[in-house]
Amino acid sequence: MNCIFCKIRDGEIPSKILYENEVAFAILDINPMNFGHVLVISKNHYKDILEIPKSEAADLFSAVQLISKSLTEALNLEGFNVISNKGEIAGQSIFHFHFHIIPRYKNDNINFVRSLKKYTDQEFQEVFQKINQHIKK
Ligand SMILES: [Zn+2]
Repeated sequence: MNCIFCKIRDGEIPSKILYENEVAFAILDINPMNFGHVLVISKNHYKDILEIPKSEAADLFSAVQLISKSLTEALNLEGFNVISNKGEIAGQSIFHFHFHIIPRYKNDNINFVRSLKKYTDQEFQEVFQKINQHIKK
């Protein structure tokens, strides 16, 4: 498979692994939005967040939490964003599941587009119902 994250995992592409546990490994993004931008990548090849099995989700999340805490201490962060893009339209460019942890600094000029929409009461009810009916309880 021609997947850059699988190649990094297998050592075919050399890289510095910041951290790893049973299910995930973390590297610095080489095209960072801010210095310290980390990628936490699943060891198994899953396309995106919808493919992650429940059995791996907790350890993946704890890797994200641990790295976020370490980043905050190491780089004196005031905050950070944790993001996973799903689908090209959402900005996913490598189709092997990963979280971005993006350090935030005062005046760093990063703007995640915020286009806030407004529901009517009816629209809110409709959207809520539609989603709720698909949630498997
Ligand atoms: Zn892969």
